[in-house]
Amino acid sequence: MVTRPLKNLEEIAVIGGGLAGLSAARHAARIGRLVTLFEGSGLYGGLVSTIGEVDDLPFPGTWSGQDLAMHLYEQAKKMGVRIVETPVRRIDAGERLELIDGEGRSYYPGAVIVASGARLRKLGVPGEAEFAGRGVSHCATCDGTFYLGKHVVVVGGGDGAVHEALTLAAVCGKVTLVSHSPLKARREHADKLDGRENVHFVWDSEVCAIVGDGKVTGITLRNLRDGSQRDLACDGVFPFIGVEPVSSFLPAALRDECGFVRTGAGLTTADPRIFAAGLVRSGFGGTGIEAMAEGVSAAEAAHRLLAGK
Ligand SMILES: Cc1cc2nc3c(=O)[nH]c(=O)nc-3n(C[C@H](O)[C@H](O)[C@H](O)COP(=O)(O)OP(=O)(O)OC[C@H]3O[C@@H](n4cnc5c(N)ncnc54)[C@H](O)[C@@H]3O)c2cc1C
Repeated sequence: MVTRPLKNLEEIAVIGGGLAGLSAARHAARIGRLVTLFEGSGLYGGLVSTIGEVDDLPFPGTWSGQDLAMHLYEQAKKMGVRIVETPVRRIDAGERLELIDGEGRSYYPGAVIVASGARLRKLGVPGEAEFAGRGVSHCATCDGTFYLGKHVVVVGGGDGAVHEALTLAAVCGKVTLVSHSPLKARREHADKLDGRENVHFVWDSEVCAIVGDGKVTGITLRNLRDGSQRDLACDGVFPFIGVEPVSSFLPAALRDECGFVRTGAGLTTADPRIFAAGLVRSGFGGTGIEAMAEGVSAAEAAHRLLAGK
């Protein structure tokens, strides 16, 4: 009698249910692989899950981050992707890849696609933790209406900060954008913000403290040119000063000095069985469509590896 090994139930493990991970899982399943996707927060869509309207999508209609994520999630489920709602805690890249989830269960996939993205960076100033949820927020779409007619401060000068400042400017009485450098956001977004009468800019400055009494009442600003400090009264603070990768569950050899995953041709890491896509990857372009495209490319690369091509 010939005994055949049972088919590996985790041919491809995808870590992260953001745009990159959902696209990778859906595509890998569509081309015939057995796929398990791990999502640690239970909130699909990652960083776009709280965006009211996702810009720069090359298809018709307007999409909130939640709608886009749920569409990709449903597509992945339809293709047969198995979803495990727990974070991946560790990957051991020994002779056999072992992935350990938040509940201590082990999985042995043939290939792994890391799409664990990033989290928003904190300012790291006094008052930030104390007033989190009481004036300090990272989501203009969720919290903007609490500041109807009020004065809020957005910190940062990239696309994320400008996007969120535009959302807040539609409901708040006044928005002050504090940036230590000229805006790095795309021209059309920066121009839109510049055109809003209720938006003010404070350049060459950083926030060095958030103050309040039960809730935020203001910030202390430091001018980076002359070192002078001044207080600014406000009702809310929205920091968008960039992201830091979520990658500590990976072997250190796969990450760069900032924690982003290094990749070469075909989105392969230093371990040929592990691929990376999206925001967690060093050199990632930044937009949602790029994250989805990289997810598909990583799925193709993992498929080729398993097929021995
Ligand atoms: C404020 C802001 C506004 C933006 N607006 C736009 C826009 O309008 N248009 C646009 O194209 N782009 C926009 N972007 C960029 C967009 O958010 C990113 O390109 C995209 O989210 C990257 O997707 P990702 O899947 O790589 O990572 P993420 O979105 O970070 O998703 C990663 C997922 O992995 C999960 N995860 C993390 N660690 C683990 C683990 N150990 N185990 C299991 N799961 C894990 C997380 O919970 C998360 O769901 C914006 C970004 C910001 C910050």
